[in-house]
Amino acid sequence: MPTIPKIRFDKYYRYEELTTLLKELAQAHPDLIELSSLGKSFEGRDIWQVTVTAKSTGAASEKPALWVDGNIHATEVSASAACLHLIHTLVSRYGTDPKVTTVLDSRAFYVAPRINPDGAEAALSERPKYLRSSVRPHPYDEDPVEGLIREDVDGDGKMLSMRIPDPNGPWKVSPEDPRLMIRRHPEDLEGEFYRVLPEGRMVEEWDGITLKVNAYKEGLDLNRNFPASWRTEDEQKGAGPYPTSEPEVRAMVSFITSHTNICHAVTFHTYSGVLLRPFSAQSDDNFPAEDLWTYRYIGDRGTEMTGYPHLSVYHDFRYHPKQVITGVFDDWMYDHQGVFSWTVEIWSPHRRAGITKGFDKETRSGAFNFIDWWRDHPVEDDLKLLRWSDEALRGEGYYEWRPFHHPDFGNVELGGWDLMFGIRNPPSWLLEEEIAPLSEWVIWQALTTPRLELLQEEISSLGERCFKLRIVAANTGWLPTYVTKRAHQRKAARDLVAEIELPEGARLVSGKRREELGQLEGKAYKDSTCINYQADPTDDRVKVEFVVEASPGTTVEVRLRHPRAGVLKRSYVLK
Ligand SMILES: [Zn+2]
Repeated sequence: MPTIPKIRFDKYYRYEELTTLLKELAQAHPDLIELSSLGKSFEGRDIWQVTVTAKSTGAASEKPALWVDGNIHATEVSASAACLHLIHTLVSRYGTDPKVTTVLDSRAFYVAPRINPDGAEAALSERPKYLRSSVRPHPYDEDPVEGLIREDVDGDGKMLSMRIPDPNGPWKVSPEDPRLMIRRHPEDLEGEFYRVLPEGRMVEEWDGITLKVNAYKEGLDLNRNFPASWRTEDEQKGAGPYPTSEPEVRAMVSFITSHTNICHAVTFHTYSGVLLRPFSAQSDDNFPAEDLWTYRYIGDRGTEMTGYPHLSVYHDFRYHPKQVITGVFDDWMYDHQGVFSWTVEIWSPHRRAGITKGFDKETRSGAFNFIDWWRDHPVEDDLKLLRWSDEALRGEGYYEWRPFHHPDFGNVELGGWDLMFGIRNPPSWLLEEEIAPLSEWVIWQALTTPRLELLQEEISSLGERCFKLRIVAANTGWLPTYVTKRAHQRKAARDLVAEIELPEGARLVSGKRREELGQLEGKAYKDSTCINYQADPTDDRVKVEFVVEASPGTTVEVRLRHPRAGVLKRSYVLK
């Protein structure tokens, strides 16, 4: 028996360590884990995918499943940790926790902890580079010939800010805390003023006057490269040359479209501490009503379990009031595949620091609005963030300005927020408490899927060589077999199929060799009261009957299969 590897949730894994850990986990739990690769990243790294289910109760492909991924955006490494936490929770509680045991016996999880291993590796390296997504140059493959490039210029492993004195600078030092830079107002005529720049170096020798800040040449955003409402570069920056053009996205899309048992999807990102749902570019009015109600139901449970409010991207989470985003994973999953999909933004530094603007503590709804806050907020909020860095982040969120002799600019100061650990990701010691509740919500979601179960099987003899076979099955899950009304509209979930296979010499007298039997309802779309003449017809059940002419002792095979509800396979000896 191989030893069970210890997964650490107080550190962020580099690619090699992550690979070793996943291989060890698969070896330690051969009954629960299957490790495979979705494909290769742009730089040729395997994009690992972990299937978790109890193999003893059937193959993953024959059970309803959840898709869970993380770290499609380079710096959002706590998303990988959330995926690892889910895998760890499932395998460590199987056999002792009844809910986890039921879930792994009857459902499967497809978990891809690091969709973008190249970008994550750049973010986690000793001299980090904080790209948006993958490392493939886009839209042009050329290095800048002038201007500033972001770089860890003093080699301390952090990318902070540089402040340079400038009489016409837009920033001044706060009188309340000398570390804090606050903006200059029209009446601020006298004093010390600064220009604040990202830590970096000039491409060519600085002329001492003009300064341009370059964007990284790796300008892709893999979470704009999905097929749903994909748009070209002029309308949606970073979307790539065509939908699924990027190897990481293509690998995901190929896997998901060939695994039609997927009923739900959760993609982990950072930051904000919110549960985001579609649409990104359409009003809630465009949802089939039942799907919106169900989204809210699943979201309410998520808020209860995680403390994160659930929001519509279109209505509550726009990066700019006049713009929408498209080509996003969760939209593609809901709109084309017809599955309930969520983008979980892990970690809210603002809420942690006590800035709750936009977030209603009573109803736990609404969320802090970055756009509004970035544009304007009281200095008190900055002071709250600083105090929080000093205390909760042990001073490792915000760094005091310290003199540095810059190779291009001479004497400057380095300091400010560490965006990678503190703002975009929790510091390592707060990681586990932040991600643990997310695993609980994902596991709960597995219980909402449909599930095909056998209720009755009966063989009766109608004569010497004539047998009647009756099979009754039901959807014992919560959602209907088609999962969403959108899937129904899009024909994304085929009807339940019943099939019988007969050996040579046997003949089907009545019943069909293969028959589509429609969809089975679940418990989801019921009223919340029995006041209204409640009626519960058995629309969750199906009865299949075959009459077979065959010699006694003949074996026939019957299969009931639904892409999202599971597969039932039975052999019957006619006698
Ligand atoms: Zn993200």
